[in-house]
Amino acid sequence: MTANILLVEDEPAIQELLLFNVTQCGYRAIPAVDANSALAQINRALPDLILLDWMLPGMSGIELAKRLRADQRTRNIPIIMLTARTDERDKVLGLESGADDYITKPFSPRELMARIRAVLRRRAPQMSDEVVRVEGLELSPVTHRVSANGTNIDLGPTEFRLLHFFMTHVERVYSRAQLLDQVWGDHVFVEERTVDVHIRRLRQALEASGMDSLVQTVRGSGYRFSRA
Ligand code: CA
Repeated sequence: MTANILLVEDEPAIQELLLFNVTQCGYRAIPAVDANSALAQINRALPDLILLDWMLPGMSGIELAKRLRADQRTRNIPIIMLTARTDERDKVLGLESGADDYITKPFSPRELMARIRAVLRRRAPQMSDEVVRVEGLELSPVTHRVSANGTNIDLGPTEFRLLHFFMTHVERVYSRAQLLDQVWGDHVFVEERTVDVHIRRLRQALEASGMDSLVQTVRGSGYRFSRA
């Protein structure tokens, strides 16, 4: 699953540098030059992470971060603040406004990419390209392979994303609507019973290995991926 990264930066040279590095790392970059165009993008589709410049014309990065944190739909988007300020007090303000991390300009692209990976790993593990293992199941986002006790399992693209999400969020219950948001993306207009169809396919694919029991139905609530 390729992470969509919204780049909110008004300085063209830095925007270009960000765009180049983010794309180079295999992420999808969405540029925005100010808070309002960022909001328009977010309204269209939720990004998986936002690189947010502090000093923007009009609404500042801090104000935008606060606004996103106050809204149910956008409150969980990971944010990395980008700023030229080095003052300790400002860093605290940045983190208090809801940013997950903070990076000061000028930054090394390598450091920035390491921060992006770290924040994604922490906040959206299904976006990370690290191999995940649960019980005898192993899933590799890079090679797109899944195996159960060493035996390859063929999965369709949706079942793959669903399993990746489950394996990175074990023991938690998700409603059908939450799974649609997380796995299909929000603003995708599919019916909730579509989730059941893909859960069924996923279980079928895991059946031979006995791993289908990991995908559990929680009556009245949704689904949970659990060892117990
Ligand atoms: Ca700026």
